[in-house]
Amino acid sequence: MESKKCTSCGALMQKPEDFGKEKNGEASAEYCSRCWQDGTFTDWAVSANLEVSTE
Ligand SMILES: [Zn+2]
Repeated sequence: MESKKCTSCGALMQKPEDFGKEKNGEASAEYCSRCWQDGTFTDWAVSANLEVSTE
């Protein structure tokens, strides 16, 4: 698996567990596991990145 950077926090994602999870259980291509779980931003990501729209 190629390494990518989280679009939200910039963390390097290399291992499968570094990637966030979509609602369907697939790995997110955009966000790390700290920012993205079950297809949505985590509380951590929202508080760490105030530019994220929370609606
Ligand atoms: Zn992240």
